Amino acid sequence: MSQPHTARLMDGARLARDLVERTTDKVAALTRETGTPPCLATVLVGDDPASVTYVRMKRARCEKAGIRSRHVALPAATTTTELVGAVAALSDDPGVHGILLQHPVGPHIDERAAFEAIAPGKDVDGVTAASFAAMSLGLPGFVSCTPGGIMRLLEEYGVDAAGRHAVVVGRSPILGLPVGMLLLARDATVTYCHSRTRGLTDIVREADILVAAVGRPEFIRTEDVKPGAVVVDAGYNPGNVGDVEASARTRAGLITPVPGGVGPMTVAVLLAQTAEAAARGLGTE
Ligand code: NAP
Repeated sequence: MSQPHTARLMDGARLARDLVERTTDKVAALTRETGTPPCLATVLVGDDPASVTYVRMKRARCEKAGIRSRHVALPAATTTTELVGAVAALSDDPGVHGILLQHPVGPHIDERAAFEAIAPGKDVDGVTAASFAAMSLGLPGFVSCTPGGIMRLLEEYGVDAAGRHAVVVGRSPILGLPVGMLLLARDATVTYCHSRTRGLTDIVREADILVAAVGRPEFIRTEDVKPGAVVVDAGYNPGNVGDVEASARTRAGLITPVPGGVGPMTVAVLLAQTAEAAARGLGTE
């Protein structure tokens, strides 16, 4: 009797470990050479438990890689002007090489204004309009970390996007929108789906490369995955549940597991981009 089909898994945990290892070596060399370790500033507004945990995890990972972190904790009542001022001060500080503004920042704050206060050379999380434009035009700059991680995974597993139909479900500025632009730059034919899309299921069924970035557990059903498709599940919902049904691996050709797929790549790219910003800031690149 033949074995049931199982997709090849894209091992983000392993690839992230490799990238962090290379970054750690680069950071050590840079610190030796210049006497100054790279420094990432983290900015957190309020005390949302998930955000607190994310920032703590990112700072711990920095420290392990030899990157110093400087934390700026602001009260939940911080105004847009105050936040923009705090971020601008970090942009002007030569001792800071990268800036991470943890989001969401709260509904009363103009998040875009706060992001735009990050100097492009320190935008290691790839959130500014300048970074987005540079990425879209194929110019040097920092990419949003999760899309950057997804593209590294596709490259590692030899996925050639040229001429293939890539369907991205989700269009958030940090995830869906940039990942579609990056796939377009790899010559995919890209379709975006979002909350106003009609006939979403029919579009998903056509996807040679499917990126799920919706934020809804198991939103993509196994039966709607094209047999042999490359499936990237960026979703991370409570209980380690992705945006794609777990059984989709019985239909896909290549798929990211949840956890251990896209998730670990995000922080790894953040560290790599911080090291890169520091190398430029310290004048070694
Ligand atoms: P988001 O800002 O909430 O965006 C969700 C997107 O999904 C929006 O574009 C929205 O459409 C679309 N959407 C929502 N409901 C839909 C529906 N019923 N049909 C079609 N489209 C729908 O979320 P995000 O920040 O991009 O995150 C998406 C997922 O990725 C979440 O699970 C999040 O946890 C995960 N994530 C993971 C990482 C990581 O490191 N692994 C990093 C970031 C995010 P509209 O634009 O029309 O509202």
